[in-house]
Amino acid sequence: MSTSALRQLHPSAILMLASAIAMVCTYLVWGLTMRSEAGLSSLLNWSDISWQIAEVDSRGRIVRLGAHPFGLALLFGLVTACCMSFAWGAWQYFGRKTLTQREADEGLSERLEKVGKDLDDEMSSLMQLVKQHMELSGTHSESLSQAGENLMASSSPEKIRAIIQFLLKENRKVQNEVTELNGKLQQSQRQIEKLRINLSDSHRLGLLDAVTSLKNRHWLDVHLPKEVEAAASANEPLSIIMADVDHFKRINDTFGHAVGDEILRRFAELLSKNIKGRDTAARYGGEEFIVVLPQTRLSGAKNLGEQIRNELECKKWMHHRTGQPIGKVTASFGIAELRKGEEYGDFLDRANSKLYEAKAAGRNRVIVDD
Ligand code: GH3
Ligand code: MG
Ligand code: MG
Repeated sequence: MSTSALRQLHPSAILMLASAIAMVCTYLVWGLTMRSEAGLSSLLNWSDISWQIAEVDSRGRIVRLGAHPFGLALLFGLVTACCMSFAWGAWQYFGRKTLTQREADEGLSERLEKVGKDLDDEMSSLMQLVKQHMELSGTHSESLSQAGENLMASSSPEKIRAIIQFLLKENRKVQNEVTELNGKLQQSQRQIEKLRINLSDSHRLGLLDAVTSLKNRHWLDVHLPKEVEAAASANEPLSIIMADVDHFKRINDTFGHAVGDEILRRFAELLSKNIKGRDTAARYGGEEFIVVLPQTRLSGAKNLGEQIRNELECKKWMHHRTGQPIGKVTASFGIAELRKGEEYGDFLDRANSKLYEAKAAGRNRVIVDD
């Protein structure tokens, strides 16, 4: 039976099969050891009394046990079944645990996306309310100045009374609209506050990197496989850029961790500034970053990598408190485009190996895997 056919079998069938094999093997091996002179056919003689007796040597020590091989085989079969059941149970338990963690991750990232979208929606309705407020006060000022002009021009008491009545009516209308708008604004404010708390919860729960506020490794582990799957099924290009700050340890050692953190934040900003649409920049770990570029071919990713590398290289850094010059900071880049049928891990490895080629070739460069 091939290994792929074995994988199709239900675990309980594998368990039974393994137990049966263990029983047959034990029966044959033990039986033949016991009755080497008699051969295979004697194993079928189940009632043979000699299975039941032990052989002893001249000093009275037992040299052979005459237990019936079937009993032993049964015992081995049972032991195998127990071991396999335990292994199966453990596999089910730990496999399920990993799955649950993955489901939780996915749920969390979806929640984060939803909260972000809700916040966006709420902000645009708030902007709409503010616009409405401004339009209303504009109309009100126009009515007031019009009424003022009329008031100056008119001399008859009827006309003056009519203008005052109009002004009072206008004032009531504005008051009502302002009260209504204030209510809506307060409601919107409460909603935004709720969403803000929700968002910071999600932040805390771990999809964003605490230092740079970019997406973190956790996010990448959940979303990059999805992007790979989506690109493969839509037959669209997908590229990734892996970037690593050069000699970052030296920066930390010379200027301290706080400066190192600040450099990471600035580099993260540079990445975010240079991407758009569905592109995502994430911190992979330490001073290593990944930019995910859906619908992007290798040439486009290479141009972007060069642009970021160049922009970083052109900057000069200085310690903001002491004024001590930090000098230039550079980064190396490895880029790959997803191949047909390629696994997520292999795709990542290719970009990573190009990054290491860029390091080995002298750093501050972009190398693509073509
Ligand atoms: P290379 O050019 O080969 O990449 O050399 P490197 O010094 O950049 O790389 P190395 O892997 O030797 O050192 C990376 C350093 O990054 C070591 C680690 O202490 C530091 N680091 C990792 N995470 C953080 C962080 O969040 N903040 C700071 N300040 N430093 C970090
Ligand atoms: Mg580095
Ligand atoms: Mg590194």
